[in-house]
Amino acid sequence: MNGTGRFAELSVPTHWQAVDVLSDLHLQAAEPATAQAFFDWLAQPAAARADALFILGDLFEVWIGDDVLDASPEACPEAPFLRRCADALARLAESIPVYFMAGNRDFLLGREAARRCGMTLLDDPTVLDWNGRRCLLSHGDALCLADTEYQRFRRAVRGAPWQAAFLAQPLPVREASARALRERSEARKRQPGHDAALWADADTGETLRWLRQADAPLLIHGHTHRPACHALAEGRERWVLSDWDLGAAPPRGGVLRIDRQGQLQRRPLKPA
Ligand code: MN
Repeated sequence: MNGTGRFAELSVPTHWQAVDVLSDLHLQAAEPATAQAFFDWLAQPAAARADALFILGDLFEVWIGDDVLDASPEACPEAPFLRRCADALARLAESIPVYFMAGNRDFLLGREAARRCGMTLLDDPTVLDWNGRRCLLSHGDALCLADTEYQRFRRAVRGAPWQAAFLAQPLPVREASARALRERSEARKRQPGHDAALWADADTGETLRWLRQADAPLLIHGHTHRPACHALAEGRERWVLSDWDLGAAPPRGGVLRIDRQGQLQRRPLKPA
């Protein structure tokens, strides 16, 4: 949200016929099948493409600073893989606009990395205005209010002081703290009394508040890895994107296509 209390807005150019929306690929070198599925999807023929791609966060499993793109494999073992991802995105961005909204894993992805990937950064949330047909886009973690500890953490790490201090550390130190944070979060999920269903879902009251403020009937978000379409009060809807995990049984992945008539269609990945 910007300083005036209104959500950011993006007006769709009149010639666009459709856009593709995806999230939660959690790209990492340790999951080569998922990465390959994404590279294949990016390289699909022009006729299969929409007019733009919207990435709603957690594209990367972790992002510890834009300088990883220039790091040696010794300083950051993930660097060659991340450069390959950036190059693949930049190739698509030569054909269609690519928009990126940060998730809770890759919120440190900044202007330099966005430039290298050919992506335009979006605020969370952003209203997509399609000739008056409005749709609110978000990663979704800011709506999971039941997890008060996470919301406290989120406020801290999204602030400039925390980010400046984190980014001032050498890459191996940042890698180690990212790993420690992830292990702490996994340990919390294993604690007795932890209610996963409550913890990791979008709060309905807050969702409605956002949609009223955005003057939009529809929210699209990721983060929870629970693809569904939820009917809400006032005729509004909340669509949840699928995560990508090609190593799972059955494999998960795919995009949500929105066309200019406002139709939404889930498009699973084609089998390799
Ligand atoms: Mn997430």
